[in-house]
Amino acid sequence: RFPVITVDGPSGSGKGTICSLLARELGWNLLDSGALYRLVALAARHHGVALDDVDALVILAAHLDVQFSTVEDQNEVTIILEGEEVSNSLRTEDCGADASVVASLGPVRDALLERQRAFVTELGLIADGRDMGTVVFPQAELKVYLTASAEERANRRYNQLINKGLGASLQAILDDIQARDARDMNRAVAPLKPAKDAISLDTTELSIEEVLASVLDQARH
Ligand code: C5P
Repeated sequence: RFPVITVDGPSGSGKGTICSLLARELGWNLLDSGALYRLVALAARHHGVALDDVDALVILAAHLDVQFSTVEDQNEVTIILEGEEVSNSLRTEDCGADASVVASLGPVRDALLERQRAFVTELGLIADGRDMGTVVFPQAELKVYLTASAEERANRRYNQLINKGLGASLQAILDDIQARDARDMNRAVAPLKPAKDAISLDTTELSIEEVLASVLDQARH
């Protein structure tokens, strides 16, 4: 038995929300692999490393000094990079766009592979990302692929940012999502696509509760 559920899909498909609810419901750990790519992008910014300097980016990725801490009874994870709290700066659209640039580099992905696999324990793991089912955990016991229309995903991201008190422009977010989809799906290494044995779920018309119920139903089979 390999107690891992992978949840892959494009930005804004609801992966983050569904994964944290699944982790809580099942009592499993959570890997937010996008945060690792965002951390590499942020570390590059802090150290003045250009996003096409592959060798320097690989060194940053291999030596990320990061701590993830969950405050008891709270759903939010605090992320500390090189001693500094970066939870909010990680979630910005700029950081996501930079992350998708560094994520297109094969050597950077390789440098993060073992760090991701080290999250597996017998307690179970929910793995959120783009290549969880295809590359990182091919032997996962359940693979889910979430999609939704680009417009619906932009709306969700917009509402998320507004609720956090961050400024946002819906059109800019839609443009960014479409650019990010194109980069994530067309890149040469680990392009975003459903694993052959994944269950695909279009969430455009579904509520969070409906998606959660459907995945839990699969997980308990
Ligand atoms: O999921 P999130 O928006 O945080 O991911 C940021 C970027 O990191 C994505 O657009 C994608 O390019 C990259 N990523 C990836 N593989 C993963 C997770 C994220 O390439 N497993």
